[in-house]
Amino acid sequence: MSADEFETIAKLFAPLARDAGARGLIDDAALFAGHVVTTDAIVEGVHFRPDDPIDTVAKKALRVNLSDLAAKGARPAAALLTLIWPDARPSAQIAEFARGLGEDLARYEVALLGGDTTSTPGPLTVSVTAFGVPCGARTPSRADARPGQDIWVTGTIGDAVLGLTALNKGVADVRVTERYLLPEPRVGFAETIARFAAASMDVSDGLAQDAGKIAAASGVALRIEADRVPRSEAGRDADIAVLVSGGDDYEILFTAEPASRAGIEAAARGAGLAVSRIGVVEAGEGARILGPDGTPVPLAGYRHRLGR
Ligand code: ADP
Ligand code: MG
Repeated sequence: MSADEFETIAKLFAPLARDAGARGLIDDAALFAGHVVTTDAIVEGVHFRPDDPIDTVAKKALRVNLSDLAAKGARPAAALLTLIWPDARPSAQIAEFARGLGEDLARYEVALLGGDTTSTPGPLTVSVTAFGVPCGARTPSRADARPGQDIWVTGTIGDAVLGLTALNKGVADVRVTERYLLPEPRVGFAETIARFAAASMDVSDGLAQDAGKIAAASGVALRIEADRVPRSEAGRDADIAVLVSGGDDYEILFTAEPASRAGIEAAARGAGLAVSRIGVVEAGEGARILGPDGTPVPLAGYRHRLGR
């Protein structure tokens, strides 16, 4: 029987990660030598489609890591790149890959420090390790939510899953396909997160499931109102259950004291980023997303199955 991603981390790797900086492997990133450190890999056929433009694959690999840093209130500083290139993929694409990577390294002011390059009979795999510098004295974790706090999310939720669905159907809806191909890490919001957020994480596996991770790590309940979950124009008529289960949003989900409301809203205006207050933290456990009549939206999210 295959193993569950999160159970495997908790059972087999967390016991090995005893340093306080590892945060028990329940956070998006670790602390080491004054830096915030994170690593994420993307795999062809799992995190991107074989035909996705190769320059966007390079950018996505970097950006998903910058998203974790932003959610920890850290600004990106440096990265390592591991490129595992398929024997069957044209080598001419590597220059395009490097061009895309270079554009984003410049855009986000990230220094490429090194990496590793190898071939494989398997799918294209790109792994990035990113180092960030904390913007404030605190690095918010997933474990810092307390009853009475507000729940906030940046941007809009569900566009990436709509984009993936559109691409798979061969429909070119650039409003959402761009959100799938090229997530926008909320780097410009890191300072606000460092200043105001209690708990914080980026939404990569679906708002519903990721809210559950804050609830579990903090030992609290998250109550989110479905009507308040921010949608783009493209998601206006979509099923809320799809939007909150899809993943790949790379928005920041965070909690904060009600006294911080005006400060958060002003900072978001200054950063040109929408933020929405979508619920409250309560005593209890688990995350619920409640419809207008109080019925919970059925929740799902992405988790990898390991092996057989
Ligand atoms: P995120 O989606 O924010 O990148 P993940 O869900 O991938 O976070 O990982 C959760 C936690 O588990 C993180 O602390 C991560 O460093 C840790 N982790 C995941 N896989 C491994 C592994 N193979 N070895 C050690 N730690 C791991
Ligand atoms: Mg994360």
